[in-house]
Amino acid sequence: MTSFPLPPGSTIGILGGGQLGRMLAMAAARIGFDVAILTPEVDAPASRVAARTIVAAYDDREALAALADVAQVITFEFENVPARALEILAELGARTAPNARALAVAQDRVDEKTFLNGAGIPTVAFRAIDDLEALREALKDLGAPLLLKTRRGGYDGKGQVWVQRMEEAEAALAALGYRPAIAEAPADFRREVALIAARGRDGEIAVYPLTESHHENGILRRASAPATASARVIAEAERIAATMLAALDYVGVIGVEMFERDDGHLLVNEFAPRVHNTGHWTLDGCEVDQFEQHIRAIAGWPLGPTAPLIHVEMTNLLGDEVDRWPKLAREPETRIWLYGKREAKPGRKMGHVNRLRPLDG
Ligand code: AMP
Repeated sequence: MTSFPLPPGSTIGILGGGQLGRMLAMAAARIGFDVAILTPEVDAPASRVAARTIVAAYDDREALAALADVAQVITFEFENVPARALEILAELGARTAPNARALAVAQDRVDEKTFLNGAGIPTVAFRAIDDLEALREALKDLGAPLLLKTRRGGYDGKGQVWVQRMEEAEAALAALGYRPAIAEAPADFRREVALIAARGRDGEIAVYPLTESHHENGILRRASAPATASARVIAEAERIAATMLAALDYVGVIGVEMFERDDGHLLVNEFAPRVHNTGHWTLDGCEVDQFEQHIRAIAGWPLGPTAPLIHVEMTNLLGDEVDRWPKLAREPETRIWLYGKREAKPGRKMGHVNRLRPLDG
């Protein structure tokens, strides 16, 4: 029987072996935990810093049982882990955090926005799209253009297409392979911001300073924090995050991506039930970074301080940009984080740099 707080020496299980798992494993090790990774990938970035790895499909019952055997709590670093994996873990009596509902809601863009609106949190207007007729109706109701996205499985701008006119409806559905989709009204934003927040097992909530994020082709390129923002915007972002965390009875770190409109009001675009790229700046900018915070939360430890120590601009190293490391290593204000991925494909997140400067004012 697992009891919390987990003492150092316990093992934390992570579904997924990418860079988020790698940085979680490094943070866990620092406070005395071992990490066991379950990933379908051989030689995954996280495996090379974890105590052990089980290479198997996420819904492989035997592999999940082996993970549950060694790990006192199990989390995930990848939100497209099949819901079935968490069901099997529950059947096996394993403790998982965040919970299955948070994962399920985040996996489906229609369910996600329906949940948010139900909790009183504004989003862009949207419609669920199952066929051409539904898309035509949405174009009539909401007007053009609309952004058509797959309901499930999209990330980094993949699975998205703008529909400018009624005549493009059919081609847009074809471009997404006729998969179930969501049609979204344009967000009309002044800038994009994100908030990383955490909720502990006792319901305590901690929020990091607001982050300003910049995307290119749907992929996060830069994020800087603390973002300059009015007290009202910061309070609104914090209220939104706290509402979501409580409504989901959430344990762990969450990443909330938002649009700031011209009138200063916020719309939530989406949330990630895990540590998030817009929080990588905390690795060098805060007393306790998002990775340690997540480990603390799921292990039932007290949450750590989130105050900013310095201003950070985080830039992702995509594809062969990672080859710039010799030059970056010479910059005294730059901290380099490389993910150990063996192959640099175009657009692939290979690492990031955090550039530090004193806090404003
Ligand atoms: P997503 O995959 O939903 O995170 O979208 C990736 C990026 O596409 C966002 O960060 C925005 O830059 C842009 N985007 C997403 N949804 C909308 C929208 N409804 N209106 C305008 N831009 C959007």
